[in-house]
Amino acid sequence: MKFPFPSGMQAPDSQPAMLAVSQDDIEAAVTRQLYAGLRLPLLVTLIACLLDAVLLWGNAAGSMLLVLVATLLITTGAGLWLHHAYRTDTPDDARHPVWRLSFIALQSLLGAGLAVSTLWLTPLVPPLQQALAFGLLTVATLVSAANNAVCPRAFLMPILTSVVPITMGMLREHDPYLQQWGVFGLLLLTALLLGGWLVHRVSRRNLASMEQNRALLAHQEHSRRMSDALNQELAREIFERQSIEQELLAAKWQLEARVSERTRELTASEQARRKEEAQRLYLARHDQLTGLANRSLLMERIHLCATHIGEKHDGSCMAVLVVDLDRFKWLNESLGHDVADDVLRWTARRLLECVYSNNTVARLSVDEFAILIEDASSQTDLESLAGAILSHLRQPLLVNGHELRLSASLGIAFYPDHTTDERELISRANMAMRHIKQLGGNNMAFYSDALQASNHERLILESQLDKALDGNQLEVYYQPRLSLSGDRVQGAEALVRWHHPELGMVSPASFIGLAEETGQINAIGAFVLRQACTQVMNWLEAGYPPLCVSVNVSTHQLRQGDFVDQVSQVLQDTGLPPHLLELELTESQLSVNVEVLRSLFTRLHALGVRLAIDDFGTGYSSLGYLKHLPVDVLKIDRTFIRELDGTPDCGDAAITRAIIAMAHSLGLEVVAEGVEEKAQMEFLRANGCDEIQGFLISRPVPPADFKRLLDNLG
Ligand code: C2E
Ligand code: CA
Ligand code: CA
Repeated sequence: MKFPFPSGMQAPDSQPAMLAVSQDDIEAAVTRQLYAGLRLPLLVTLIACLLDAVLLWGNAAGSMLLVLVATLLITTGAGLWLHHAYRTDTPDDARHPVWRLSFIALQSLLGAGLAVSTLWLTPLVPPLQQALAFGLLTVATLVSAANNAVCPRAFLMPILTSVVPITMGMLREHDPYLQQWGVFGLLLLTALLLGGWLVHRVSRRNLASMEQNRALLAHQEHSRRMSDALNQELAREIFERQSIEQELLAAKWQLEARVSERTRELTASEQARRKEEAQRLYLARHDQLTGLANRSLLMERIHLCATHIGEKHDGSCMAVLVVDLDRFKWLNESLGHDVADDVLRWTARRLLECVYSNNTVARLSVDEFAILIEDASSQTDLESLAGAILSHLRQPLLVNGHELRLSASLGIAFYPDHTTDERELISRANMAMRHIKQLGGNNMAFYSDALQASNHERLILESQLDKALDGNQLEVYYQPRLSLSGDRVQGAEALVRWHHPELGMVSPASFIGLAEETGQINAIGAFVLRQACTQVMNWLEAGYPPLCVSVNVSTHQLRQGDFVDQVSQVLQDTGLPPHLLELELTESQLSVNVEVLRSLFTRLHALGVRLAIDDFGTGYSSLGYLKHLPVDVLKIDRTFIRELDGTPDCGDAAITRAIIAMAHSLGLEVVAEGVEEKAQMEFLRANGCDEIQGFLISRPVPPADFKRLLDNLG
């Protein structure tokens, strides 16, 4: 496997040039060795010469010896200088051959010096000193030769200049003693040559292997450096790769982040689009104010349910309940749209609380709601559901600081019993609701064919009602109120009648609701009020005892800003003492804002007029609630009286007794209406009721008849 070297780097050669030791290298090594061993021979030679000089001192001319010593010192100094110069030269320059030559020259010079001094001085000294001199010469020569043996020239030249001339010189002497030294010189020469040759061989080999080792070490060093460089380069490349990898990783993360960001954006915009679409769809099928279904969604559900019923053929049916708040218009006008909106929202919530989630609650128009009951098999269940809804809606409501009491009218129609037309289903329930509304609201009714007929009649009446007033078709009847304390007629209730040219006498129950819807009630009410006051004033002027007349007032009249002024005007015009006028307000009609009512009642009261709560017991208002209103009279509804048969244990008797007691405790007078039987009268008398009104005393009658009645009853 080939190791991938980083770019720009080369693998070290398998056979490096450095391992091959050249001749030059060896020669340079030889020179180096020569110089390395230079100082010792120099020193030995110097010592030897000085000792020689000491030995010779006294035997030779002193001046000659001094010259010899001076020359020796100069040469030794030159040798030391040369040694120093070589050592301080650069490695490359130190290879130059001149260094070898200088060395040889120096050695030759020293050898020559030795030869001259030996040849000159030896003959002058005694034999012992000669031996010493020769011994020293031998030591110096041997030391030098041992060092120089590595280089034949350096080895031979000093010998040739010292030992050879000395030997030759001694042999030529005539003194046999000196000739012996010549022989000794020959022996020394022979030993030197042989020893030098041996040392040369060994030292050459050593030198070669040393050079080889040195080259090897150099090569190792080179390889180490190369590998260090490689390692560094490798580390740099690794570092660069890691940096690049990190950059790549960072770029990848960035990319991933951007991708997920974009995905999020896309998801968010898709979600926003879907939300918008859902919102659009929702708005198309829901009422914005209440969040209930709108008419279109209700129709869809009715259609769906009708389809199921048609498919099943098992006699199942559905029902639609139409719920309309009573007197909402007044609430809207008197308390403002914000309060009215809150009331509608509360109504929606309460309706939802009354039904299961699978039934649809919808808002059809301003204050008209509808509930689709998909499984309406039991009429009784529906009746109790309707009752629960009405009662839930009647719970006092605190909106924007106003305590409100609402009531509603509720109509129910069945599919397929009452109609097989899906669209007609709502209108039939609506018809039943309107019927209830005419009867004063706060109740429920099922659709019936009779209702359809009365609706038809109602339509006729509606179209002709405006003619009733203009055409003098309205008349006021009076029904007496008998005081139980003195069995005297002390008051009368004014009740309107419509003498219709074709239909005959129409009951107010049939047209008062209608008149309230059309707004004609204001004119009718004003007519009755003026008529009643005028009539009672006439009787008063005719000498009859003071009679208190009670006039029914619709909340629609109260809504007119000038109602109090109207009453005041009528009293003023007719001259009737205000305490002889009593205004009746149906309890259920009080179920609006207490503050507004209190302020109105207070103003009316301030005129001196008496105020009565009509039909008490049907409107679900408490006596505690009435405590806050300046009311004088309470009229117990005839439904309670009807059941009174004299037995003290019957439920209505208990209620009636409680009402009387509580009304008295609040300082109110009590009138019981609808008294048809003596037993009822006796019961009421026994329980402290103040006045009674009913067929037992008299039906409502025209003024002439009432006058007669006054005459009779007195
Ligand atoms: P209301 O104010 O409760 O009047 C009493 C109703 O009970 C009268 O019916 C009267 O004829 C009837 N009544 C009296 N005694 C008896 C009795 O012993 N037994 C039975 N079964 N009924 C009795 P009417 O005259 O048909 O009036 C019906 C309703 O029409 C009145 O109920 C009242 O709420 C309304 N009304 C009548 N005249 C006026 C009017 O001028 N203005 C307004 N706003 N409403 C009127
Ligand atoms: Ca009344
Ligand atoms: Ca009444």
